[in-house]
Amino acid sequence: MPSATPIDGPHPEVDASVAAARLVDHHVHSIVREPVDASAFLAILTESDRPPAIAGWDTQLGIAVRRWCAPLLGLPAHASGDAYLERRLTLDRDEVASTMLREAGLGTLVVDTGFRGDSLIDLATLGRLAGAEVRAIVRLESLAEDIARSGTSAAGYPAAFRAAIEQALPTSVGWKTVLAYRGGLDIEPEPPTEAEVVDAAGRWLGEVARTGRARLTDRVLLRSGIWEAIRTGRPLQVHTGFGDTDLDLQRADPALLTPFLRATEGLASVLLLHTYPFHRNAGYLAQMFGHVHMDVGLALHHTGAASERIVAESLELAPLTRILFSSDAWGLPELHLLGSWLFRRGLARTLGRWVDAGDWSLDDARRAIELIGWANAERVYGLKA
Ligand SMILES: [Zn+2]
Repeated sequence: MPSATPIDGPHPEVDASVAAARLVDHHVHSIVREPVDASAFLAILTESDRPPAIAGWDTQLGIAVRRWCAPLLGLPAHASGDAYLERRLTLDRDEVASTMLREAGLGTLVVDTGFRGDSLIDLATLGRLAGAEVRAIVRLESLAEDIARSGTSAAGYPAAFRAAIEQALPTSVGWKTVLAYRGGLDIEPEPPTEAEVVDAAGRWLGEVARTGRARLTDRVLLRSGIWEAIRTGRPLQVHTGFGDTDLDLQRADPALLTPFLRATEGLASVLLLHTYPFHRNAGYLAQMFGHVHMDVGLALHHTGAASERIVAESLELAPLTRILFSSDAWGLPELHLLGSWLFRRGLARTLGRWVDAGDWSLDDARRAIELIGWANAERVYGLKA
């Protein structure tokens, strides 16, 4: 039976290699546990949390869901949004999830559990539905916020944070920071001193006790957490580029990390996530620094039919050994599928064109598919070890 999401590049052998790839999705989230009604579904299709900004089906992503996911529910391609939701709500949710996750063709999911993790299904269930291996990524700001809620003293904070890092090591493969959401990426490059950390912890823990709310925005503590993670030698994922309304886009340009990247050379891999619309800046940084990697996840499903261009642009300056695939899908299995499929289609069309033009050999294309599709992620996260 032909796949519901065929790869349609100009070169059949490139298409076949892309279609056969068991991708490692190196930054992804789980799917929602509770049933989603129409308004919850449409809210997940946008990064905005502002009700007036929710554009319903009139987005690239909305059109892509109707085009590519509708046939998997037994509907015609381009079915109306209403017909899609009506049909989806009558079907068994695990079956819908399993169909879409398996169609995504993922070998391994490297899952960030930090964003609204309580509302999502557990990793073992996600892996079973996807027919894939699952590994975890630990969000540094969540570690700090758990410590703040536990009633640690300011003097005990540095040791408590290091203990939390140690404790996370056996069950995770790397770290993630949302520094971009907590004041921006323009941090001082060097680690703070222990005295500075204790001082900052005193101020923050006092505020947490007063307000009952633990959301880490202190720049010294953010920096200290990042450096504790770097010292483990494990890879560090950094949110860069667009995100939701909490973020000031002009402070999410990965180029702002340049002094930090100089300071961390040779210590741990740094993975610039999403990067759009700064993916060209990210490609430049990946060429300059051997420990810097990038992806264009999240941008793929949100740009739908236009995503091919972004895949091609991600293949400009960055060495092929430092580009990774991610979907950054959250909540809906439609996003896992579209992330994978739009990436495959963009790659097959782009590489196929270059092979057809005689600019690349077929072997060059196959090597790029292997590196970007799974081998770079396996190397960076030690997935084969
Ligand atoms: Zn994410």
